[in-house]
Amino acid sequence: MILDLTDEAASLRVGAGLGRALASHAAFVTLAGDLGAGKTTLVRAAMRALGHAGPVRSPTYTLIESYGVAAGTVHHLDWYRLGDEEELESLGFRDLLQSNSRVLVEWPERIPAVAAKADLAVSLVYAGDGRRMTVHAQSLAGERLLSAWMTEIA
Ligand code: ADP
Ligand code: MG
Repeated sequence: MILDLTDEAASLRVGAGLGRALASHAAFVTLAGDLGAGKTTLVRAAMRALGHAGPVRSPTYTLIESYGVAAGTVHHLDWYRLGDEEELESLGFRDLLQSNSRVLVEWPERIPAVAAKADLAVSLVYAGDGRRMTVHAQSLAGERLLSAWMTEIA
């Protein structure tokens, strides 16, 4: 699935659709792409759509920010500053995945072995003044989420 996000408004619209789809689909979603590719923009829009009214800070330094919303708990992680899989496990990552929550991870490239377990893999690249988004479902849950997401933004 490839989508052109021609400007920030397009990213906000598509990110809001992801949030609405996540409201009824718990999943582990990775967001790959260079600095400034628009990963946090998508997460912010998704969090708004999930009903979170407060700020959504980039978890670059805190590594994880967790939010309680009506649908459940959303964990937003940034692996940029993460050393290795062991450090990830020390954050209790395994428990996050087993808790039926929504897990959104920026910089999955840092720990490919764990990123491979994501239900949905989103990738963003620069395309002119905008961005191009590629999405791969990597599990049945991922296929269901992707289908709900595309329905939301159709
Ligand atoms: P990342 O988390 O990938 O580092 P951010 O989401 O913080 O990136 O976005 C970086 C910048 O890119 C922001 O200024 C944002 O407004 C802009 N941006 C996001 N999506 C788009 C888009 N589709 N087209 C153009 N600019 C965008
Ligand atoms: Mg970011």
